[in-house]
Amino acid sequence: MNINHVNARSIITITKLKKADYTINPYIGCTHGCAYCYAEYMARFSGHKGEKWCSFLDVKENYTFPSDKFQDKNILIGSATDPYNHFEKQFEKTRSILQYLTDSLAHIEVLTKSPMILRDIDILSKIKNVTVGFSLSASDEIARLIEPYAPPPSERIKAMRILHSAGITVFAFISPVIPFFSDYQTIVKAIKEHVAYVGFENLNLRGSFKSEVFALIKEHFPNMSQKFASIYYSKQAFYRYWHIQERGIHKFMQTMGNLPYKMYFFHDDNKKE
Ligand code: SF4
Repeated sequence: MNINHVNARSIITITKLKKADYTINPYIGCTHGCAYCYAEYMARFSGHKGEKWCSFLDVKENYTFPSDKFQDKNILIGSATDPYNHFEKQFEKTRSILQYLTDSLAHIEVLTKSPMILRDIDILSKIKNVTVGFSLSASDEIARLIEPYAPPPSERIKAMRILHSAGITVFAFISPVIPFFSDYQTIVKAIKEHVAYVGFENLNLRGSFKSEVFALIKEHFPNMSQKFASIYYSKQAFYRYWHIQERGIHKFMQTMGNLPYKMYFFHDDNKKE
């Protein structure tokens, strides 16, 4: 892993994402190696053109925190990195940002795949309005292939239970829902007592990671390869498949009592105009 320390003028960025007003990414790059990572385009915009995503990590330094308290704004920590990637243990950038945000009037959302966040329960408990989201996509067995360096989903689920018991609002982000491989029903049943809501995002395949995901499926599940790829052959096939899945999720969630859920299918709908 190529680690760099880079000067960052600011740490809080206005975002076009519908679900947030600002994003904070304490690092550029990541360590989890998810085959479907939407953030890999960041390599081109951060002086790492040609370098493989998850082979480098830029640690942001020397930024100043704005004095703004961001009243009623939504701040998402971890839109293009895991704020609890393996090196957070050493650099504690996310921890220091959370410390700064303890008197913020914003709604803070932290998105991660790592139980390392448990280290920061002391600070999370002090923030007035904070939610922790855990991304979960598949079983431990499948996750080992598609998210090779991320902590196993079963460990994430344990961490969610601990955070919930500590009084911190937790949600599950079933992302991405991977055709034929994401058993979201089992995941939701395992976490429903510990989360405030569940989000669902489908697997969009764009950019260079499309061929990587196809190659991975072909290598490990050759019998599924053609069926999987057919979903991504054309826009029509894509929308047809995911509209059916959407209906399936709505139907399933009706059986989960009053557990609220949100759909983040079709990325174009997730951006502000
Ligand atoms: S944890 Fe998130 S940012 Fe990191 S590689 Fe996986 S999808 Fe990308």
